[in-house]
Amino acid sequence: MIIALKKGIRAEEQERLIQWLESQGVRTHISVGEFQTIVGLVGDTTRIDTDLIRGLEFVEGVTRISEPFKKANRKFHPDDTVVRVEGTDAAFGGGAFQLIAGPCSVESEAQVETIARSVKASGAGVLRGGAFKPRTSPYDFQGLHEEGIRILSEVKKLTGLPIITEIMDIAHLPLFEDVDIIQVGARNMQNFELLKELGRIRKPILLKRGLANNIKELLMSAEYIMAGGNEQVILCERGVRTFETYTRNTLDLSAVAVLHELSHLPVVVDPSHATGAARYVKPMALAAAACGADGLMIEVHNDPPRALCDGPQSLTPEQFDDVAKAVRKVRDAILND
Ligand code: PEP
Ligand code: MN
Repeated sequence: MIIALKKGIRAEEQERLIQWLESQGVRTHISVGEFQTIVGLVGDTTRIDTDLIRGLEFVEGVTRISEPFKKANRKFHPDDTVVRVEGTDAAFGGGAFQLIAGPCSVESEAQVETIARSVKASGAGVLRGGAFKPRTSPYDFQGLHEEGIRILSEVKKLTGLPIITEIMDIAHLPLFEDVDIIQVGARNMQNFELLKELGRIRKPILLKRGLANNIKELLMSAEYIMAGGNEQVILCERGVRTFETYTRNTLDLSAVAVLHELSHLPVVVDPSHATGAARYVKPMALAAAACGADGLMIEVHNDPPRALCDGPQSLTPEQFDDVAKAVRKVRDAILND
């Protein structure tokens, strides 16, 4: 349920209303917008008498939210959420756009440093690299684990780029202290115990859409993190599995428009895992920028044919530079529209 308050409400009136609502056993979430203050209620609202609240002179309106996701709902928080990376200029949402780039997996310090320096020069604001890799086969390279995170932290110190890497097991969380954004991969989108634990920390989480999950399920997974109090969630569309075989997945760009309508959370697109082929990354990156994505996550490798993971979809640093330039042109065109 949301309660829209009239503009001139006095602080004491607002405070009294909140106290009363909380005494009814619900939690409140206040969103101060440019034109209105919204009080969102979570919990069991069945006992709340909406007519009573509607009758208060400082209340503009009361609406029950029919969707099962509340905190992630735009009705709850009409303005875009801007997710900021602490201690850096990197931000996602509300007009802020970010390029995340780097190798699929961390292979060596020299590799990550070379890639980081080049993607930074091309305009990337966040460095990616997998240390724990969710691979279909147990015989494939599984990542450097703790050593991979140490390398990312070292390259962060050398380049100043904040880092994002994927968590697969909550037991590994202590290793993620220096990680700026924690990624939940497609395969873990519905690992609810992991999501609940990530709700307890105060760090941005990039939540990827599952291989065969719909938009509502993605939002419900974001809700798990937000329900714990961590509201810094970035959603990521990375393609879903369909009957199509020419691409690794099918990139659902309509999800960007739908998510922006339903939710206030920023939405990033990953054209690398969506297509599985380097030659399709540029057109899909441009399309994602054109439809209003708040950022892109792109795999870049210094030597794609020799990559230990996802070489066929990885761009060379030169190809990434070309994509970054073209994306800027699309962004300028839509911003000046
Ligand atoms: C990744 O980003 O390295 C990854 C494994 O992606 P996804 O979870 O989207 O498959
Ligand atoms: Mn990958």
